[in-house]
Amino acid sequence: MALKALSGKVAVITASTEGIGLATARRLGLDGAKVVVSSRRQENVKKAVSLLESENIEVMGTICHVSKEADRGRLVEETVKCFGGIDIFVSNAAVNPAVGPLLDTSEEVWNRIFETNVKATFLLCKLVVPEIEKRGKGSVIIISSVGAYYPMQMIGAYCVSKTALLGLTKVMASELAEKNIRVNGVAPGIIKTKFSEFLWKDEGPISKAAKDIIPMRRFGETDEIAGAVSFLASDASSYMTGETLLLTGGMPVHL
Ligand code: NAP
Repeated sequence: MALKALSGKVAVITASTEGIGLATARRLGLDGAKVVVSSRRQENVKKAVSLLESENIEVMGTICHVSKEADRGRLVEETVKCFGGIDIFVSNAAVNPAVGPLLDTSEEVWNRIFETNVKATFLLCKLVVPEIEKRGKGSVIIISSVGAYYPMQMIGAYCVSKTALLGLTKVMASELAEKNIRVNGVAPGIIKTKFSEFLWKDEGPISKAAKDIIPMRRFGETDEIAGAVSFLASDASSYMTGETLLLTGGMPVHL
């Protein structure tokens, strides 16, 4: 039987018990990787592990609230203990706790957004990269957003945090290239998950207005993001680093 693209690899995906994170864990697992799923709630971790096991994916699950130092440390420690190392890291966790004009954002909300979306990604990379280095090569994938490129009103601070991740991707890519570690990003458009359900769930004026700015005239599916992450994790993208792939159904966005 032919080897799968990610056979022998270990992949850690944050916020992976639902939505894009879960679809990514499933995709990487079906492509041959051993996967580690995590999120804040034990019952969600348990459910995700059972689902992936039912598809014969080798999986380990643990609680990890990415903003908690002890949880981040445990995620890395337990992965290394269980699977012997890390080759692929997908930083997927993000929050958007409030909606409103940018300059009405409170300092507390601003801090929460940057703590989870940017700082936790940076701090997790500090823990994970030395483990990837031990393997001789590997791949980091950071989940950004179309909002990094396109100023979406009412979620301004979230958009700024996602633009910061483009910078983190570029700087880490240039520093880690000589270590054989590639760092790329994925910027999803509007994907049908709980996170964005206010935009797509009801077939009303909000959903129509959102669809009108998408040339493909439909919202994305989580599997359509997972496929791009798998590409970036595999040798199919071996000459690519420091880039972020936009998957938006054709929205003509740019910085
Ligand atoms: P989702 O379906 O709402 O899933 C959220 C997942 O994150 C759940 O597994 C949740 O589980 C976990 N989670 C939430 N807060 C966490 C934290 N602090 N630490 C660890 N896990 C946490 O979200 P999604 O749409 O898949 O979003 C995933 C990523 O895609 C995010 O970075 C988001 O910004 C990005 N994105 C999404 C869209 C979209 O349209 N959906 C568009 C652009 C970018 P628990 O509740 O158990 O923690």
